Amino acid sequence: MLNQIKGLHHVTAMASSAPENNAFWTRTLGLRRVKQTVNFDEPSVYHLYYGDEHGTPGSVMTYFPFPHIIRGRPGTGEVGTTVFSVPEGSLDFWQQHLAAQGVADLKRDESFGSRRLAFSGPDGDGLALVEDKNDVRPAWIGDGIAADHAIRGFHSASLRLRDAGATEELLKFMGYQHAETHAGTKRLVRPDGNGADAIDIETLPGVPRGDLGAGSVHHIAFAVDNRAAQLEVRKALMDTGFQVTPVIDRDYFWAIYFRTPGGVLFEIATNEPGFDRDEDTAHLGEALKLPAQHEHLRSRLEKTLEPLE
Ligand code: ZN
Repeated sequence: MLNQIKGLHHVTAMASSAPENNAFWTRTLGLRRVKQTVNFDEPSVYHLYYGDEHGTPGSVMTYFPFPHIIRGRPGTGEVGTTVFSVPEGSLDFWQQHLAAQGVADLKRDESFGSRRLAFSGPDGDGLALVEDKNDVRPAWIGDGIAADHAIRGFHSASLRLRDAGATEELLKFMGYQHAETHAGTKRLVRPDGNGADAIDIETLPGVPRGDLGAGSVHHIAFAVDNRAAQLEVRKALMDTGFQVTPVIDRDYFWAIYFRTPGGVLFEIATNEPGFDRDEDTAHLGEALKLPAQHEHLRSRLEKTLEPLE
């Protein structure tokens, strides 16, 4: 069993409108935009990153906005709900705030004994807030949500699978332990992780595979401290029979990717070097940053990428 993986690093999803996505994650949900760059594999579109003040791994939601892309069709083989942690007693504020902002599909319930508010993002993204009184991670409060309400980072993410068995085995190999089962959903937790420690598995045997589109999660990334730990994880996964990509430089972290037995794309990302490698912490996310291989496209991209504000 591996011990290098420390919880979630980031979750990456698809959007249809960059300015709408930016407004939702910063003004509505109060996260900080910590990086404004392009999709390194498809540089005609943005890659936007939202998180806490520093873009700490475990807090970072990222989007590829493809203008006019059609909505995804939810199904199996993908992430179902991405869940963020908020302070105890804050959900009444959030329910009023999100309703006032016109956020769709607000629903209060209880999950694994915690109060939860589920809602949809601008493209039907499956999102939720869960009250967690034990979460001591500092919140970003620069975008207008007060500290006693603000998001602390990821709480968990759920995987929707037709058959959970092999993915559950994989997560256990990655260091997760079965914690509890609630209403048919199985929770696995990484003990001593970075705070973004839980993965929930929903088993939906009769549900067809989802179609990727706006509002769909593209992949989910797990955190390791550094490149040495990443290479250990890569070797162990390959020795177990997984097809894993070579290490790819994403400027703010190094990444490897592999497809899980249940169909979800997993990434293992390093905590180094971080989002302040090319911008001061005070100014994260303000300027368009391009990787060296795409810098020659800058003048064109500055004309064709839709302004965020
Ligand atoms: Zn990623």
